[in-house]
Amino acid sequence: MKKDNIFMNIIQKKVKTDILYQDELVTAFYDLNPKAPVHVLIVPNILIPTVNHATTHDEIILGRLFIVAAKIAEQKNIHSSGYRLIVNCNDHSGQEIYHLHMHLLGGKPLGPLLQK
Ligand code: AMP
Repeated sequence: MKKDNIFMNIIQKKVKTDILYQDELVTAFYDLNPKAPVHVLIVPNILIPTVNHATTHDEIILGRLFIVAAKIAEQKNIHSSGYRLIVNCNDHSGQEIYHLHMHLLGGKPLGPLLQK
């Protein structure tokens, strides 16, 4: 599995991006093509390509994604109005980047979860 995906380059600051948050486990930055007024990606600092690749060793990292999402939602003042967290996995979900990531979306009513 290739380790030099675009998200790894952002995490390692090899490409210039506004990083909203970074700690020893995860990094958060704005989505390049925002689908809502707030659209942030929160990603593990290590390569876990999809949810299918996650193991029990990754539990703290995966939990941190939620903690950081809630923290950023509060900073962006969307924690009370509400927001959506999405993790895509593989082809049918439309996953484009094979470096597990959580989408944080909010800032307006988001409508139904799935279009028919
Ligand atoms: P997914 O479909 O869940 O794999 O989502 C991938 C997301 O990454 C999409 O919403 C893209 O807009 C976003 N994206 C792709 N390249 C970049 C980049 N260089 N910086 C920030 N977001 C990106």
